Amino acid sequence: MERGRGALGPALELVHTGRAPTRAVLTAELGVTRATAGAVAAELEALGLIRVDARPTAPAGSQGRPSHRLSVAPDGPVVLAAQIHADGYRAALVGLGGTVVATAPGCMTVPADPSRIIDAVVEAGAGLLRSSGRRCLGAGLAVPSAVAEPDGTALNPLHLSWPAGAPVHELFTEALAKSGVDDPAGVPVPGVAGNDVNLAALAEHRHGAGRGARHLLCVATGHRGVGGALVLDGRVHSGSSGLALEVGHLTVNPAGLPCHCGSRGCLDVETDTLAFLTAAGRTPGPEVSLLQQSRDLLRTEYADPSVRAAAELIVDRLGLGLAGLVNILNPDRILLGGLHRELLEADPERLRAVVADRSLWGRSGSVPILACTLDFNSLIGAAEAAWQPVLDDPLAALA
Ligand SMILES: [Zn+2]
Repeated sequence: MERGRGALGPALELVHTGRAPTRAVLTAELGVTRATAGAVAAELEALGLIRVDARPTAPAGSQGRPSHRLSVAPDGPVVLAAQIHADGYRAALVGLGGTVVATAPGCMTVPADPSRIIDAVVEAGAGLLRSSGRRCLGAGLAVPSAVAEPDGTALNPLHLSWPAGAPVHELFTEALAKSGVDDPAGVPVPGVAGNDVNLAALAEHRHGAGRGARHLLCVATGHRGVGGALVLDGRVHSGSSGLALEVGHLTVNPAGLPCHCGSRGCLDVETDTLAFLTAAGRTPGPEVSLLQQSRDLLRTEYADPSVRAAAELIVDRLGLGLAGLVNILNPDRILLGGLHRELLEADPERLRAVVADRSLWGRSGSVPILACTLDFNSLIGAAEAAWQPVLDDPLAALA
């Protein structure tokens, strides 16, 4: 099994991402013998992480011996995932395979003291864990800010009232200890924190519309503002200190609105939910989030000329920003999330035409521009970050 130990992590990742539905595929993907693949699958099953189903599945009359089916263990361990956004928070338990086991939303005006909302979301997650009785192996937090590495500070929480440099990783770790989110040995589980769009892109790459892309660019509005991420060969490209792909502050309208960053006409203020509602002449109400109000407006009133004109204005500015990114990054796929996903779905041809017109690589190669497909992709991405130590070395993580 010495040879097999090094294959445990890669094997788990293949099952986790749905790329090895059978033992035969696992054998081929790992490039090992059938005996080694069988031993690796058995070991992951013994750890409670996957299920190996030996019942024959091939229809009568098909050729060859059916292979054992592999899937993530349905009652296996979970991680606690947490997301904080401009309108509140959401906690979830997420299993392997990106499966949301349980989730609880919470709404509040995000307090200026980040520890209050971090404590609240962790307590909500701890409540889900207590009622599920599942074993917890880690925890991840998504925040709408660049998160500096390795210190884990939220550098620019522009749409929250937090101070710049809020120590979110440290506060999250403390909240996990306070809430008693322990591993089976009674030790508080480790927590990781990251930018919400980076985490969303990671989740889409593993389980959603980004599967198979090698240079995946993701641009999304959250509830407020705009973020971006690049997933290179399966890993989030975070730059030298976690701050790469701050695409929200790309200028798309030099004479445009002043931005929280001190510049003017940034993607962040020119193409987010508030920009769209304002351009459509709507005064945002307090009842539901700006993201929901924008979605509702696009879905129900797109025939209204003022709504359509606002959508086209935002699409043109977004297209300009994407074209610049395409020239610099040469992605093989672009995914859009939040309001940008809705705008793409409302008029896919216009956005693609702007990007093609304005970019060198877009014109010559036509980069696919697609919608994100996962619900709660930032939460699932926070879970992915929490699962990473288990995916890297299952035996060590479960020891
Ligand atoms: Zn800006």
